[in-house]
Amino acid sequence: MSRSPLASGHREGLIPPAVRRAIRRKLLRWYDRNKRDLPWRRRAADPYAQWVAEIMLQQTRVETVIGYYERFIRSYPTLAALARARHGEVLKYWEGLGYYRRILHLHQAARALCEQNAVVPDTVEGLCRLPGIGEYTAAAIASIAFGRREPAVDGNVARVLARLFGVALDIRSPEGKRRLRSLAEQLIPRSRPGDFNQAWMDLGSSICTPKAPACHECPLNTNCEAFVARTVDHLPLRSSLKKVKQVRAVVGVFLNGGRMLLRRRPTGGLWSGLWEFPNAEVTDSCQEADLLQELALDCGMSLRDEPTQAALVEHRLTHRHITFFVYVASVGNRRSSTKPTFRWVTKQSMARLSISTAHRRIHSAAKSAIENAKPGHG
Ligand code: SF4
Repeated sequence: MSRSPLASGHREGLIPPAVRRAIRRKLLRWYDRNKRDLPWRRRAADPYAQWVAEIMLQQTRVETVIGYYERFIRSYPTLAALARARHGEVLKYWEGLGYYRRILHLHQAARALCEQNAVVPDTVEGLCRLPGIGEYTAAAIASIAFGRREPAVDGNVARVLARLFGVALDIRSPEGKRRLRSLAEQLIPRSRPGDFNQAWMDLGSSICTPKAPACHECPLNTNCEAFVARTVDHLPLRSSLKKVKQVRAVVGVFLNGGRMLLRRRPTGGLWSGLWEFPNAEVTDSCQEADLLQELALDCGMSLRDEPTQAALVEHRLTHRHITFFVYVASVGNRRSSTKPTFRWVTKQSMARLSISTAHRRIHSAAKSAIENAKPGHG
């Protein structure tokens, strides 16, 4: 039976040099044969391209990111091009990706760097000073674009390391994170650190998957403590995530003269700067019907007819599960909503605005009720 990779230096958590060399060699060889052809990998030395890709990849699957990345980079091929763009226009390229604070930060950082005539920082410390860049993203950019010897440990890499070295610590605990970080630091090679980080990422997403990892195809299986000890199914140890909050919200699709009313969300926070149908959270003390009246009044209008309950839309976010109760209602006096945060739109003009996936879904779920509603007049 193979020995644990830490066998001779276990107490100090040190990986013996021969094991380090073997893991590096095997992993890089596997990567050279199996690496995914991803558009940002064709611009490996371009820190801006790596930055865009890494920000998009936060919380989003690679397959989803590819199309978004290609469209974004075609429209904003350089940091300066992104800095010059209007925020509403940039948001359009992010629509559907979710977690809109990411694009807000990326755009702010691009503008700030260009105002100072600066370039993308080439160190983890410098990158971490930019909004929206944490340690993992900084290490990925610094290693891939600048060849810095910085280990990038995200959830995927943490899982592989915990199994490979049989780390029986909660990988979300400070101690677990310290141990994994130390292992990653010992392993990262001087040459090709960017490829090495990407090799971990690919191994974690294609072979050492959360469920049913393909250990028999894994280039590291003879070095893997969990594989040898048959504990793969028990690792990594992970404390449960924050509880998901259940939220109920009333949505008013207000119609007048063949147009629908949208309002713009404030900058910062969830769905920052996107357009949406007016909505409000349901609390124990207020009824849906009263809320709808209040929403209309907030928008400077009154309900003309009994609203139609048009749809119920469930939307899941990482820490929130929202149930939208969607009502369609004709309202009077379209001109009263003249604030810049409101806009009356047709179906066609709505397509040109940046709208969250949740509200696009609300629109399509309420479509027949919208089409059958009595035409009001402005
Ligand atoms: S042998 Fe299995 S558990 Fe170990 S690193 Fe490879 S895929 Fe993961």
